[in-house]
Amino acid sequence: MVNAKTTSKILGLKCRECGSAYPAEAIHVCEFCFGPLEVDYDYAAIGKTLTRETIQAGPLSLWRYAALLPVDGPPTVGLHVGMTPLVHAKNLGRKLGLNHLYVKNDTVNHPTLSFKDRVVSVAISRAREFGYKTVACASTGNLANSVSAHAAEANLGCYVFIPSNLEAGKVLGNLVYNPTVLAVDGNYDDVNRLCSEIASEYPWAFVNINVRPYYAEGSKTLAFETAEQLGWRAPDHVVAPMASGSLYTKIRKGLTELAKLGIIDEHPTRMHGAQATGCSPIARAFEEGRAFVRPVKPDTIAKSLAIGNPADGFYALKTAQETDGRMAHVSDDEIVEGIKLLAECEGIFAETAGGVTIGCLRKLAEAGTFGKDDVVVAYITGNGLKTQEAVQGKVGDVVRISPSLTDFENKFSLEDKGASVAQAKAAGRG
Ligand SMILES: *Cc1c(COP(=O)(O)O)cnc(C)c1O
Ligand SMILES: [Zn+2]
Repeated sequence: MVNAKTTSKILGLKCRECGSAYPAEAIHVCEFCFGPLEVDYDYAAIGKTLTRETIQAGPLSLWRYAALLPVDGPPTVGLHVGMTPLVHAKNLGRKLGLNHLYVKNDTVNHPTLSFKDRVVSVAISRAREFGYKTVACASTGNLANSVSAHAAEANLGCYVFIPSNLEAGKVLGNLVYNPTVLAVDGNYDDVNRLCSEIASEYPWAFVNINVRPYYAEGSKTLAFETAEQLGWRAPDHVVAPMASGSLYTKIRKGLTELAKLGIIDEHPTRMHGAQATGCSPIARAFEEGRAFVRPVKPDTIAKSLAIGNPADGFYALKTAQETDGRMAHVSDDEIVEGIKLLAECEGIFAETAGGVTIGCLRKLAEAGTFGKDDVVVAYITGNGLKTQEAVQGKVGDVVRISPSLTDFENKFSLEDKGASVAQAKAAGRG
């Protein structure tokens, strides 16, 4: 199945714990210490050709950073993923006392409206280089959507495993691409355990299990794009949501790589992590000063972040510690407030994970974590149209009228009319 090719830029895989070296194959656990494996690059070779100019001459997608992604040849799947807007959030910033607050808006990532398109396009491009004909995943929702869409594009067999209690939009967002969807009676941690067993029996590329080292690298592109969009600099603060903790740790890795290659200046970015109170194993460990995560049973509306036993929890805690970062967690009510706050201030409708990020951003701001002129980037990773249940009944209602001017004027008070006519006159439209 696996015919490992290595190019000059990928040296192989390396154990994050004991440093043992492995070939760049579809493996993810160290044989000696069971530590997770990570892609090992030849930065000296990459640095010979990679510059701001070569990056900017690349495609308007995350593939402009292909030199720092673990694929040998040109990418074959997900060619339009990434390069999402970095929005200067002036209204929200004003509310929180921040002059340079930015939102990295992955609610509009192509094609499935979440940051997962980044990791999946990289994982499946790599899986095809390995010769896999079938892809699969254990998902909290968005990952299954993205694997289903990319498998359709790449004509691959597709099996996605999800907890059976997911939001309707996320279930439909799989079925429409016609993969095999397995809804498991259990939470994500049960799904993941089952998939680990299946992965050792079937010749499938489970994007977040046996090809996880490659998958995880896709998250670095959030950092690469942010630095480029800020005019080639690292932010002072990052606020990012955490499920397994992978995305959060890889944003830091991305910033570190750019500095190591001289593409941006060295800069001490403080990494802050966000979780839902109902599933906050990493934030709780941080709060209690523990170096290890104690698994929990998730109970939160933020289903995309509902991982009770986070694979990268230990490394997330280390990242916070090493960067003077903080962690916060928010209740379900605060998540809904966060979604509404971002929508009303910036016109961006995020899913529950975005509500977690904004809720935690607000808590961190109120705790005095940021200077008013610091550059703060909040990562909004999924689209609100997929988790409509979360805000159903918690927003205003429509004004129902018949199609008549009289009915309209009955419902629309004269006071409003006077004000809006005056406004229109002032704007030269009266
Ligand atoms: C998967 C996911 C995350 C975070 O995932 P990690 O496992 O921590 O990398 C964040 N936001 C959304 C919307 C997600 O779907
Ligand atoms: Zn090891």
